[in-house]
Amino acid sequence: MRRLILSIAAIVTLVAIPAHAQQAARYDVLIRGGRILDGTGNPWFHADVGIRGDRVVAIGRLDGATAARVIDATGRYVTPGFIDIHSHADDTGNARNTLRSDDAQRRAAPNLVAQGITTVVVNQDGRSAWPIAEQRATMERLGIGPNTMLLVGHGAVRGRVMGDDVRRPATEAEIEQMRALVRQAVAEGAAGMSAGLEYAPGRWSTTDEVAALVAELKPSGGFYISHERSEGSDPMWYWPSQDEPGPPTLLDAVRETIEIGERTGVTVVASHIKAKGAHYWGSGRAAIQLIEAARERGVPVFADQYPYGTSGTDGNTVLIPGWALGGGQRGETPDYAARLREVLADPARNADLRQDITHEISRRGGAEQVMIFEHPDDRFVGGSLANAAAILGLGHVDAAIELQLTGFPDRRGGGRMRGFSMSEIDIDLYAARPWVATATDAGIAMPGDGANTHVRFYGSFPRKIQYFALERGVVSLEDAIRSSTSLPAQIMGLTDRGMLREGAFADIVVFDPATIRDVSTFTQPHQYPEGIEFVLANGQFLVDGGELTFALPGRILTRTAAAAPRTQQ
Ligand SMILES: [Zn+2]
Repeated sequence: MRRLILSIAAIVTLVAIPAHAQQAARYDVLIRGGRILDGTGNPWFHADVGIRGDRVVAIGRLDGATAARVIDATGRYVTPGFIDIHSHADDTGNARNTLRSDDAQRRAAPNLVAQGITTVVVNQDGRSAWPIAEQRATMERLGIGPNTMLLVGHGAVRGRVMGDDVRRPATEAEIEQMRALVRQAVAEGAAGMSAGLEYAPGRWSTTDEVAALVAELKPSGGFYISHERSEGSDPMWYWPSQDEPGPPTLLDAVRETIEIGERTGVTVVASHIKAKGAHYWGSGRAAIQLIEAARERGVPVFADQYPYGTSGTDGNTVLIPGWALGGGQRGETPDYAARLREVLADPARNADLRQDITHEISRRGGAEQVMIFEHPDDRFVGGSLANAAAILGLGHVDAAIELQLTGFPDRRGGGRMRGFSMSEIDIDLYAARPWVATATDAGIAMPGDGANTHVRFYGSFPRKIQYFALERGVVSLEDAIRSSTSLPAQIMGLTDRGMLREGAFADIVVFDPATIRDVSTFTQPHQYPEGIEFVLANGQFLVDGGELTFALPGRILTRTAAAAPRTQQ
């Protein structure tokens, strides 16, 4: 009993002293009474958060404090701002999808910040602007919504050195030139390098070439993030009837990423990790084994993932192989149905066609998982390929052919289709690994941008929280937040963001666990998520009371700044 009284006295004293000391404290923003999830994976605790300027300056019981702006966060979670390690918010060659747009509302990246994203990493999949210094200067001059980290693209560097002659391994001399370009980009502010090894021109590079460039990241502590050579049984360019057997698989690709990390000592990330194709589902477990074995022997390998079962390229599913439809002539409207009829009339090519369509249906998730969104025949719209086949009384391959023959003649495939090429088995396995960061793989979108926008543009981070943590418990809420905050920050080498603690930048999300959800759909993608009530970057509101502010407080984050956060302006 006596001990209890003593303890109570001690607690009263402990609480009373700071409360008294902070009587006069005044903040710019005070977030009161929320449950703090600090981004480390620790369980939540109750505390107030005091912000002055661009920093969090106090976390605790701030009873006597006043502020220009007080937010009541009772019943809400208060977390670090989300960090999107694979973002297309500044894609070159797409005027709409860029943080350098003339339109200030686009530069605010409304669909991204509405999800709680306060930092994006751009120049992904091997593609980057050039020079990096100019990209950076333009963003700094115009102003951007989220903080932005720039990468240098392997494909961009390769293309600059090799011109159009990229369908071969680079020579030693060319690799030397590429290394110099990577060094230049790093000096100009690139925080790492991305690669797109399933795409041109990265596809024709050797592991030695990529490793030589990645080694250039070592002195600055930069990281390497790769769209790998394959994401399933074979790469997206592969047609069984046309290409050599034995193309690289997901597991080959993961092994290569690990090898690059092992040879260079640079942190490596297998980007938007998946196991694509109905005949390849379940392979996520093998990829996880490879990565965890590598981690055990000391290789700094990580991955990122967007939490959906359909990919970007799945949105352009064309079940008829490209070789059967031919290229487009300038100024001429193609008649794909006519071209397909020619192939069908030739027995040898007809057999090849059927082999490739069979493969493509499987690669896109099977006939039940290929959905038809647009087609002149209304009976098919909104249903699957399997449904169309049943209506037609045909097999799946013949139904795919029929969709082209009776479809829009100038549209590859005859209409708009989307495959759902991934299995929840793999998605959940990856989502639960502690080294998998949450990402969007999305760019900037605005209402009116058209129907073919992936829902990940609007819902990735809320979905990770609601569908993967709160609803199904695939990960804990703490880990869902950690995978969206301190984990990507650690991979990127950011020490002053991604965690909610005194001294960190005031990048903050306040959300309501009762209402948070992604509401974007493939028929109506342009819908903002619910339940994300406040989002701040550098102490400025991006979302205020559930409303977008279109503010532009974002900064370019460089490795130098990460190493010396206090000098960053
Ligand atoms: Zn990619």
